[in-house]
Amino acid sequence: MTRNIASPASPEDGVVAPCPACAASAEQGGYGEQGRHGALVGAPRPAPTTQDVARSPLDPWLAARLSIPLDALSPATVRARQVDLLREAVRRALDAPFYRARLAGLPLPRTLDDFACLPFTTADDLREGGDALLRVDDDAVARIVTLPTSGSTGAPKRLRFSDADIERTVDFFAVGMTTLCRPGDVVVIFMPGQRPDSVGDLLDRGLRRAGMQPVLLPPAASGAEHAARLAQTGAQVFVATPTQARAIADAVLAGLAPASRPRACLLSAEATPPETADRVRAALGCEVFDHWGMTETGYGGGVECTAHHGFHLREADIHVEIVHPLTGGPLPDGQTGEVVVTTLAAEAMVLLRYRTGDAAAMLPPPCRCGSPLRRLGPVRGRIRRYGNHWDIITLAKGIRP
Ligand SMILES: [Zn+2]
Repeated sequence: MTRNIASPASPEDGVVAPCPACAASAEQGGYGEQGRHGALVGAPRPAPTTQDVARSPLDPWLAARLSIPLDALSPATVRARQVDLLREAVRRALDAPFYRARLAGLPLPRTLDDFACLPFTTADDLREGGDALLRVDDDAVARIVTLPTSGSTGAPKRLRFSDADIERTVDFFAVGMTTLCRPGDVVVIFMPGQRPDSVGDLLDRGLRRAGMQPVLLPPAASGAEHAARLAQTGAQVFVATPTQARAIADAVLAGLAPASRPRACLLSAEATPPETADRVRAALGCEVFDHWGMTETGYGGGVECTAHHGFHLREADIHVEIVHPLTGGPLPDGQTGEVVVTTLAAEAMVLLRYRTGDAAAMLPPPCRCGSPLRRLGPVRGRIRRYGNHWDIITLAKGIRP
């Protein structure tokens, strides 16, 4: 549901070969830099002026969660704390039969380098591991999310979450949304939210906790209908998938729906093609924020700040690595590789070094918002391995006006 890719990617979506220019441009953190490869064509986002930029609210939240004084927050202090959390995560993972077998005979990691030697967890492991990945009794599982496989065969992936897991996500949403929301704002949510503990429901709860007025709207048949509903609410902010937001923008620009004037929107659940963000800005005049996350990370993962220079990460709950898609070795900041996540605080089901298949680079600190921490750069597509080669399948662009 909250994969960061619009749809199961296919070669028809377009393929680009990774190259040093891609890696170098990741350091710039801009959007549209893959245009020369025919992949992500779009105008670079205008750089916000200094007075527009506020430090990410995730920094004080992280400092509190990690017991680090805010003025001591740095990549080094976060890394040091994460080593402790990773050791605890490995210990907890060993409660699950899958990891007891997978890690048998391996010592607990003492350093990040040790941790980076542990075996990966793959999507196939999730499909085939089933209940063996669960480390709590069934009655401690509050929510099961089933993700269908893109092929016609094979078991689906099943992610399990406890009440405490869900609470951490609501907490992240409550803080992360203050990046773009103010108390009292009406916030329209177009994400699925009718079922308890669905992503829309968790976002609704997070927004209420932070003093906003969320409005959950059921899925509409067209962009024009979404746009009309958005205008009716008079919302200051809306949350949508890039596909939904693009359809709203197209409908407004085509004169099929009334234009509303929200102040900001958050695009989530799919990777955002740069031209989609441009189109939404052109149609609605709002500031566009991007979110990265997936069901495997408990939905939330990272959110842009007002500098729009990468995703500030939920580093108290997840550890993010960028690895070479073939060798699995670590890649330096700025170099595009596969995003690998470890769920540091997960209770029902720990994922150690889970290969997400997302292609992205880590952006070197500091951020222009004043945060000293690293951020995850834009997701460029999906990693595809074949033989001794790899490339990136770029984002699907299916748009329904
Ligand atoms: Zn920032």
